[in-house]
Amino acid sequence: MEAPLQQLQDPLLKAHGITLWIKREDLLHPHISGNKWRKLKYNLQAAKEQQKTTLLTFGGAYSNHIAATAAAGKEYGFKTIGIIRGEEHLPLNPTLSFAASCGMELHYISREKYKLKHEESFLLELAAQFNNPFLIPEGGTNNFAVKGCTEIVQDININYDYICCAAGTGGTIAGIIAGSAGEKQVLGFPALKGGEFLHQEIEELVHNYSGQKYSNWQLITDYHFGGYAKVKPELVNFIKAFQEQHQIPLEPIYTGKMIYGLFDLIKKGYLKRGATIVAVHTGGLQGNAGFKERLGLQL
Ligand SMILES: *Cc1c(COP(=O)(O)O)cnc(C)c1O
Repeated sequence: MEAPLQQLQDPLLKAHGITLWIKREDLLHPHISGNKWRKLKYNLQAAKEQQKTTLLTFGGAYSNHIAATAAAGKEYGFKTIGIIRGEEHLPLNPTLSFAASCGMELHYISREKYKLKHEESFLLELAAQFNNPFLIPEGGTNNFAVKGCTEIVQDININYDYICCAAGTGGTIAGIIAGSAGEKQVLGFPALKGGEFLHQEIEELVHNYSGQKYSNWQLITDYHFGGYAKVKPELVNFIKAFQEQHQIPLEPIYTGKMIYGLFDLIKKGYLKRGATIVAVHTGGLQGNAGFKERLGLQL
């Protein structure tokens, strides 16, 4: 499994004297995509050490993490249970149908109940109901995930000034910050509106893992395009043009927003001339099947 660095040739980059490498984490595994593979790695190891036979986790109906956990369970011999936010819709969408085909057992809970996903009492209830499984939080984000994501940084064998990634729960960027150990500038692009709230959560994740507090990172919160699963034509057009030009597929929730934002920052002269950037392609392309189905979007 490899996540090669691919240099992008683009007139915009040339004009601003920027070198941009895409770290193709999307190529790590065909189904355990990108950062979700990094985040699951040490969770799977811990589950094995604790002699657990079942993984239980949480997600929305189009969750990349649900798809990845289902595939990982199948590949590494764990039973998997997905606690899915909202009601069941049949036929299953492409994400859940893939998860089910990997053997994941799907349980739907109301949006209200789903909000309790971090509450101790609710987790105890689930543990009792499902015979004491290995619990993995939403998006896979915990200390094991942060550890796994430090390896994204260790895997990079070139010199660079900036490293960028998209942020959902912040687990991935926390690992990148911890792995960078105060070196370089780390830029995160939150997919959610009002992404500022993530700052403290990321700081806590980094601190829990490394005992450190770093200041060489920031969140760029202007490129959420209206929120998590909102798909704006401007973004879709950008993704299509990017794919056409560079033969690198993106999706509109995370990686599309990050690359759009990065190009915009470069256009505005925000990044210094002569800088080398590594942008982490965190994968998530399985979600595009759902966009195609729901919106007729062909990405
Ligand atoms: C889940 C996901 C993210 C967000 O990762 P966090 O660790 O939750 O911040 C980013 N990109 C893609 C493609 C994802 O699937």
